[in-house]
Amino acid sequence: MSNGPVAGLPPLAVADRLDALRALLDDAGVDALLVTGTTNVRYLTGFTGSAGSLWVDGWRAVLMTDGRYGDQAPAQVAGAGAEVDVEVVGSSDRSPVTALADGSARIGLEARSVTWSEQRRLANLLDGDPVATDGLVEGLREVKDDGEVARIAAAAAIADRALAEVRPALVAGAVEADLALALDHAMRTGGASDRAFETIVAGGPNSALPHARPGSRPLADGDLVVCDFGAVVDGYRSDMTRSFRIGGPGSGREADLLSAVLDAQEAGLALVADGVPLAEVDAACRTSLDAAGLGEAFTHGTGHGVGLDIHEGPAVSATATGTLRVGQVVTVEPGAYLGGFGGVRWEDTVLVTADGHRALTRSPKDP
Ligand code: ZN
Ligand code: ZN
Repeated sequence: MSNGPVAGLPPLAVADRLDALRALLDDAGVDALLVTGTTNVRYLTGFTGSAGSLWVDGWRAVLMTDGRYGDQAPAQVAGAGAEVDVEVVGSSDRSPVTALADGSARIGLEARSVTWSEQRRLANLLDGDPVATDGLVEGLREVKDDGEVARIAAAAAIADRALAEVRPALVAGAVEADLALALDHAMRTGGASDRAFETIVAGGPNSALPHARPGSRPLADGDLVVCDFGAVVDGYRSDMTRSFRIGGPGSGREADLLSAVLDAQEAGLALVADGVPLAEVDAACRTSLDAAGLGEAFTHGTGHGVGLDIHEGPAVSATATGTLRVGQVVTVEPGAYLGGFGGVRWEDTVLVTADGHRALTRSPKDP
């Protein structure tokens, strides 16, 4: 089993990210930000440990980690690029923030990742109430650079190959959980460091549950099957769903459902380009399914950003207020779920470009 890193990936442009964050601090009403979200710390420094927080102010970046990461942290920060100017200090309790703040009252915390008790403890260390910030680093992470896109594309290609390998086993009598395991195994042997999330293989009535867990039920002829899975390469994830009917699409109700949802996905994908409102992409999918009488069966948002996290910004939904931007990587994944009968979802991970998009997941859609 080979699960080493995928070769030939361009370096990540970590060096620019700290300055991009610094440019946001004043508008956020802070002089410094204590970054505590572990994925955000990784994004800004290259450090992959599960415990660490990063102090960022106008001129310094200080990574505080506990003793377990004494060697790993400096090596990873150095590996992220010569211009990444991050000092690493050993600390298990973030006490260095007292000296770093040096009396300043405008210290930001990441509201999404700090617990109430931590917030109170930091208020003591800082001798004053910190300022809540929301989504500063997450906002930067929405637009991917070339190195990030290359990693997501590599993860997507691994998932494509895994499906091609497992597809012949998608037959009557096969068990959902075995097929999910086969996909996971194929992704690992194909070079993924992990699966991007818990792989879904859901057949028959189970396919009508958008977040079904693979069970022990053998697939039967005529079953609809939803396979939703992704790979991880160097921390970056891919996300793809393909739907099938055991025995081929045929010409019945299953075939209608498979093609109606595919039409909806194509209507959404056709809009994906720089500057297009996110809500319009969602509306295109919804309008298409409405026209097919399946509006009520589409019970979730159209898509989400993908990167270091499987679900990140931007959300592609009816309530989204922003627009797509070049460099974002999003999914378009309409579905229709008919309780007691079955469900269908088609999902691709795509890169937004100036004049449209490029699909990163490329498995054929031949149910
Ligand atoms: Zn998915
Ligand atoms: Zn998804």
